[in-house]
Amino acid sequence: MSKTIGVIGSGFSGISAATHLANAGYKVIVFEKNEMLGGRARKFTTPNGFTFDMGPSWYWMPDIMEKYFAEFGSKINDHLKLIRLDPQFEMVFSDEILAVPSLYEEWNDWIETLESGSAKSLQKFMTTAKYKYEVGMIDFVKKPCHSWTEFVDFKIMKSALKMDLLSDFRSYTKRFFTNKNIQCLMEFPVIFLGASPKKIPALYSMMNYGGYQLGTWYPLGGFSKLVDAMVCLAKNMGVLFYTNQEVLKLNFFDNQITSLETTDHTFEIDALISSADYAFTETLLPSHLRNYSKAYWEKKTFAPSCLIYYLGINEKLENLKHHTLFFENDLDDHIEEIYTTKKWPENPLFYVCCPSKTDKTVAPEGHENLFLLMPIANNLSDEESIREKYLHEMLRRLEKKTGAKDLLKKIVYQRSYCVSDFKNDYNAYGGNAYGLANTLMQTAILKPSIRNKKIKNLWYTGQLTVPGPGVPPAIISGGIVANDLKKVI
Ligand SMILES: Cc1cc2nc3c(=O)[nH]c(=O)nc-3n(C[C@H](O)[C@H](O)[C@H](O)COP(=O)(O)OP(=O)(O)OC[C@H]3O[C@@H](n4cnc5c(N)ncnc54)[C@H](O)[C@@H]3O)c2cc1C
Repeated sequence: MSKTIGVIGSGFSGISAATHLANAGYKVIVFEKNEMLGGRARKFTTPNGFTFDMGPSWYWMPDIMEKYFAEFGSKINDHLKLIRLDPQFEMVFSDEILAVPSLYEEWNDWIETLESGSAKSLQKFMTTAKYKYEVGMIDFVKKPCHSWTEFVDFKIMKSALKMDLLSDFRSYTKRFFTNKNIQCLMEFPVIFLGASPKKIPALYSMMNYGGYQLGTWYPLGGFSKLVDAMVCLAKNMGVLFYTNQEVLKLNFFDNQITSLETTDHTFEIDALISSADYAFTETLLPSHLRNYSKAYWEKKTFAPSCLIYYLGINEKLENLKHHTLFFENDLDDHIEEIYTTKKWPENPLFYVCCPSKTDKTVAPEGHENLFLLMPIANNLSDEESIREKYLHEMLRRLEKKTGAKDLLKKIVYQRSYCVSDFKNDYNAYGGNAYGLANTLMQTAILKPSIRNKKIKNLWYTGQLTVPGPGVPPAIISGGIVANDLKKVI
C-alpha cells in the first residue's frame, strides 16, 4: 500500500512537494489553514468586481516554471497565457524616470544614453550573470545542502571560483557602473532576496539575468493563475487539498510523527513535510525535538515585512505602467530603517503594480486595480492610523507621477495588509513577507536544514530553507525536499 505523506501549507513549495510525491506514487494530502490555496500568492475578489493578487507580481525566471510543468509531461502554455511586459517596469528617481526596455537586445542603446560607455560594462556584467544563472540553476540550486561534501566535485569547485561568492553586490555593481541610477537599477533584483545589496553576495547577479534578460512576464488573469495551474496538475496526479484545516498538533511514537490534528480531524501519516514558516513548524514539536532554538531564529537575518494596500480606483490613470518603482528617496536610508534601526521609514521607497494596465479581467471597465507595497522592518506595530499615514504619502507621490488628482476620493475598494496580517494568516515569524534573506552566512548549507535531525519522518520546505525566497526558489524547494524524502520513506 502506498505511504501517506501530509504536507502543511499550499504555497508554491507545498504544492510542488506534493506534486512530485504524488507523481512518485505516494498518497499526498495538503492541509491549508486559509480558505484559499496559494499561500502568500493567494488572490481575493471583491463584490464590486476587482481581483487582487495578494503577494507576488513579478514573474521572473520563466524557464523554471516551464521546466516544472515539463517534468510532469505538461506544458505551461496549455495552462497560462504569459504576456511579456513592455516596458518591463518604470523606475522613478528624483531626477529622472527610467522605462526599462522589454527586450534585452534594446538595452545597449538605451543604457548608453544614461552613461557613456555603459553598454560595454553591461555586456560584461550580464555575461557573468548568465554564467552564474546557468551554473547556479544546474549545479547548485537543486542540492539538499545536508553537507558541504555535496559541492566537492571538480566542475562545481572550479565554477564556484567564478561565482563571486565573496564579493558583496554593492561593490561589485560599482565596478561596472558609475551612474547612481544605473547602480540602483542593477541592485533592484537582489532586494527581493531580503537584505541590503551590501550584504548580498555578488553571486546573485544571476537574478539580473533571470529578470532583465529573460524578461518580466505577466500571467493573464493574475499571478494566482500560476497557483491554479499548479493545483490543477497536482489534483490530476491525485493530490488531495483540504482548506480551512489548520494543523494544530502533531502526535509522536518513538520520535516519529504518527498523525496530525487539524481544526476538525486527525489524520494518520507516514511522513510530514511542512511548508509553513520554519520557526512556526518547530513550535508544533516538543522542544527537545526541534532543530533550532529560539536564540537561533533571533540571530537570523529575516527578509522584511511590508505594508500593502489593495485599491480599486474609479478612473483610469495616465502615465502609469504595469510595474513602477518609486525610488525618489535614498535606498540605503530606507534599508537602514528596515534592518538596523527597525522603525517605520521617514522617507520610504515603494512599489506600485497596476495589473489592470495589462489585464481587463482584474478591474471593472474604466477602473484601475492598484497594489501598493512598501517594505518595512519585521515586528513593527501596524495599527490602522500608521498604515493610513503611509497610504497618503504613497498616493501623493503616485499623483505627482501620474498627474491624477484627489485619488483618496476615487477609491472604491480599499484593504490594507501588514505585519500582524502576515503573522495571523501565515504564522510568519516576525510577520516576515519573504522568508529568510540570502546573505552569504545564510546560503546553501548555512540555511535551516530541510530534514529534522531527530525526527526521522519530518521535512521542511519553502522560502525559509534552500534555495531561498521567491516563487521560482519555492517551487524548486518543494522538488528538493520530495526527492530527499523519497530516499528515506
Ligand atoms: C507581498 C509579497 C510580494 C512578493 N512578490 C514576489 C514577486 O513578485 N516575485 C516572486 O518571485 N516572489 C515574490 N514574493 C515571494 C514569494 O511569494 C514567496 O517566496 C513564495 O510564495 C513562498 O512560498 P512558500 O511555499 O515558501 O510559503 P507560503 O506561500 O507562505 O506557504 C506556506 C503556507 O502554509 C500555510 N500554513 C501556515 N501554518 C499552517 C498550519 N498550521 N496549518 C496549515 N497551513 C499552514 C500558510 O497559510 C501558507 O499557505 C512575494 C511575497 C510577498 C509576501
